[in-house]
Parts: sequence; C-alpha cells; structure tokens
Amino acid sequence: MPEAYDAVVVGGGHNGLVAAAYLARSGARTLVLERRSVVGGAAVTEEPWPGFRLSTFSYAAGLLRPQIVQDLELHRFGYQTYLLDPEMFVPLPGRKSLTLWNDDDRSAEEIARFSERDARAYPKYSQYWTEVVELIDPLLLSAPVPLPELLEVVPDDRVEELVRDLFLRSAADILDEWFESEELKGALCTSAIIGTFLPPDAPGTAYVLAHHKLGNIEGHPKSWGLARGGMGGISEALRRSAEHFGATVRTDAPVRQIRLQDGRAVGVELASGERIDARAVASSLDARHTFLEMLPPDALDAEFRSHVAAIRSRGSALKFNAALDALPDFVASPGAPKPHHRGFIDIIPNMDYARAAFDDAWHGRFSRRPFMDIVFQSVHDETVAPPGKHTMSCFVQYAPTTLDGSTWEEAKPAVADTVLDTIGEYAPNIRQVVRHWQVVSPADIESTLGMTGGNIFQGDITPDQIFTFRPVHGWSSYRTPVEGLYLAGSAAHPGGGVLGAPGHNAARAILEDWRPGS
Ligand SMILES: Cc1cc2nc3c(=O)[nH]c(=O)nc-3n(C[C@H](O)[C@H](O)[C@H](O)COP(=O)(O)OP(=O)(O)OC[C@H]3O[C@@H](n4cnc5c(N)ncnc54)[C@H](O)[C@@H]3O)c2cc1C
Repeated sequence: MPEAYDAVVVGGGHNGLVAAAYLARSGARTLVLERRSVVGGAAVTEEPWPGFRLSTFSYAAGLLRPQIVQDLELHRFGYQTYLLDPEMFVPLPGRKSLTLWNDDDRSAEEIARFSERDARAYPKYSQYWTEVVELIDPLLLSAPVPLPELLEVVPDDRVEELVRDLFLRSAADILDEWFESEELKGALCTSAIIGTFLPPDAPGTAYVLAHHKLGNIEGHPKSWGLARGGMGGISEALRRSAEHFGATVRTDAPVRQIRLQDGRAVGVELASGERIDARAVASSLDARHTFLEMLPPDALDAEFRSHVAAIRSRGSALKFNAALDALPDFVASPGAPKPHHRGFIDIIPNMDYARAAFDDAWHGRFSRRPFMDIVFQSVHDETVAPPGKHTMSCFVQYAPTTLDGSTWEEAKPAVADTVLDTIGEYAPNIRQVVRHWQVVSPADIESTLGMTGGNIFQGDITPDQIFTFRPVHGWSSYRTPVEGLYLAGSAAHPGGGVLGAPGHNAARAILEDWRPGS
C-alpha cells in the first residue's frame, strides 16, 4: 500500500515549503514534491562555476513576512540577512551619480544636489509610502477581502486619494506630481516596473511600486537586503523548518497530474507513474499550469478555464549572473570596494530611458539600453565566492517572452554584450573583471520553473490581478473549483516575490476546511 498523506504540496518553491511547514506544524502528514533536484523554485542558490554561488533567479530578500520567519523559527534553521544600504546608487552620464540611503534625511541631502525642491519633498514622499505600507501590510497574511471591505480599512478622508493613486494611476503620474528631477524620478520608478511588462506610464504601475515597498529587513521598514548564502539560504531554512515540523520533502519528483475521484482531488501521479493519495492537494505552480495542465480538461467549466487562460503573465526581464575577479570600478565614484558596492546599483538615468527600453521589448526586441538592478552579494557574504573574488547579479529589463526573429538561446551572446557594454559606460573595467557569465532568459525561467511566459510573479501584480482578482475573480480564497485542491503559490494573493504569504494563507485555508480535530 502506498503511504497516504493528509496534504501533498506540488512544487517545492518557497511558498510550497511555507505551506508545508505550517501544515506539518499543525500535525498534518505533509509531503512536498519538487520537480528539480534543488528546492526553492525562483529562490535558489546554485553553483554554475566552482566556488561561485549565485542566486540564479530572485536575488533580493526583504518581502518574506516577519511573522513567517518567527512562526517557522527560520533563524534557528540558518536564515540570516544583510541590509542593503545604500538603498540605491545610480551612476549617471558625465561622472555624476545619485545615491539614496535607507535614511531619508541623508537621501534628501544627496537629492539637493539635483533639486532643492525635491530634497524638501522626499521625506514627505517616503512618509506617504510608509502610510500605504501600514495599510497593506496587515492584509497580506489572510485571504483577500472584497473591495468594499478593503476600502473600509482606509481612513475616510483618504479613500479616494489612495484608490486613485494605487489602483488607477501610473508611477510616472505620481512621480511627476512629487518631483522635478529627471534623475530622481528615474531612480524611483524602478520599483514600479520591476518584473512587469509595462512602462512607468501605465496605469496600475503605482501598485507595483507599493508592492515593492513591503520589504522589511530585520525591522527596517521599506528596506531590502540579501540572504546569507543567496536566496537558496531562505529556501533551505524553510526546508529544514518544514522537516523539523514533520514534513517530507522529495526532490527530483515531477508531478504529472492531480488525480481526481468524483470531481474531488484525491492525490497526485508522478511522471514516474507513482501514485500518492492525499486528503488535500496544494499546488504552488502558477494558475495556468495548475488548472490547464495538471487537471483533465473536463474537470473545470469552460468559463473558469477561459478566465485562467486570460491571466496576464508576460515575461519582462532576464538575469545576467557573473563571476568576477574584482569589483567593477564606477567612474562616478572611483575605487572598490566603496559604499555603493554594498547596495543596489541601478542603471536608469531617467524615466525616458525606461520608456525606450520598454519600447524595444514591445516590438519584440531585447532592450538595446536596458534598465538594470545590480548587486554584489560577495561584498557582504563570504560564502558565495572564493576569497578576493566576487559575484554579480544583474536583473535586466526589458526582455519579452519571445523575440522576433530569433530564439533566446541564439540571442544570449548579443544580450551579454549589451549588458556588459551598458555597465561599461559607467564602469569601464567590467570586461576585464568578468570571468564567467550566464544569461537566464524568460524562456529559461519558464522552462526551469514553470512560470508562464517567464513572468517572475506567476502573473502580473497590477491592480486588476491582485486581492480578490487573484488568480481570477471569485476564486481568491486559495480554494478552487475542484474540491480538495488549493492554490499555494504566487499566483494567489498577495502575489509574487519571496513573501511566503500565499503559502501561509493556503495552509490556513486547508486547515480551516478540515476543522480542528476532524
Ligand atoms: C528572475 C527573477 C528575479 C526575481 N527577483 C526577485 C527578488 O529579487 N526578490 C523577490 O522577493 N522576488 C523576486 N522574484 C519573484 C519571486 O522569486 C517569485 O515570485 C517567487 O519566488 C515564487 O515563489 P513560488 O513558491 O510561488 O513559486 P516558484 O518559485 O515558481 O515555485 C514553484 C516550484 O514548482 C516546481 N514545479 C514546477 N512544475 C512542477 C511539477 N510538475 N512537479 C513538481 N514541481 C514542479 C518548480 O520547479 C518550482 O520549484 C524574482 C523572480 C525571478 C524569476
């Protein structure tokens, strides 16, 4: 007799592991099945070259909810973070640069070099987002509430302003209203476009910006950092926690289908043909893979299937990961290591630059002058590179799901040239210090992880696809039209990023449905 479980979690990404840990902690016999030989999904560390360990996909920690860190005792299982400060160093043409720190007053001093008016406005702008985060944060670790109730949590005198800003406006609208410096607006629009196939002018990008303000590293609100050992450090801690609470985690275990009996999920079948029975199946695959590939077509009605097929899930970005013999030397602030090597380095001199980069991708090309978000993990963390050597992680945008006239595989050498030439405009020694590089394209993201279109969030996190609209309207409670089947990954509220919240909320829905003691 094969062993039966209370819950089988399909996919061992960080959300699958969070769901499993909470289920096991509540006493449920829980099994995680991961297709790859490494757990973590988009939150993994791999060693493409001996001695160099890189966060292949996601690279910046901060979104993981503090409550999850505490409940699952992640510090005990190896979770450790480093604060990224400066928050952002933007090298600019003409040997100039703009540095933003986690301290608003220090940032304002820097901004004053560009605009006195913007320097005065910046602390107020920062406070505005603090207030937004204080409203959104408590909504993350529970199922989304319907819009009318959602509006009730906002103070009456601010409802209209906040609905307009977060749901209807673009990041560019908001930044143009607050600031005059093109350099500052370029820097600040990065959070609104990251991972999203939209320019900063698109309505809804303001919400994407808000989502990226939810970072919190060791009690520093709106801040970001790195996980010791790379993003796989988070997933390994989650795996150890889940196992500590009693879950079993199997890798190299691809699931072929979710098994149904009388319309109810009763377990899974692996690609090997092995069948595993369970009272509940929690899928952390995206909605399209879960509903359109893991289930027989007649399991769901045509209307639901068409809503799932319509979820916007376009690729927008790629990763360029590299092993370095030395740090790049930026002409705007010569020398290495310098403080800016300890923070995010962003190549985006203004919003027009982002618009042009998007325009290329809209027409089926990789951006000729891409926006880049760069970190050197090795400056903080000695575990990821041999002594004296460095790692460089570049998030590079825009990269459409498919290219006109070539495959992503064919385009990789040209992409690497574009990335190195773009960095080289600001740090001319880049080509001398790069020892190895890899391009992780939207096609790689899709084929390795199963994220449709290479979309890094398992579906855009614009207002039409968040809260009760995620994954599709009417099915945002982690439950699905198939009894016994739950959605536990980023495709569910509150969406993508290494938040852990969808996994937490799905586990809670399952436990509620079982009712204690049943
Ligand atoms: C390039 C990139 C950069 C990013 N940068 C950041 C960042 O810096 N910070 C941040 O917070 N977020 C970032 N994100 C977003 C974030 O990483 C993801 O939203 C999040 O990790 C998704 O987690 P998940 O557990 O929901 O899904 P996934 O990580 O996609 O996990 C799904 C798992 O299911 C497995 N799987 C697929 N099919 C099967 C099958 N048939 N059987 C068994 N297992 C299967 C996959 O291998 C995978 O492990 C980035 C994402 C990408 C791709």
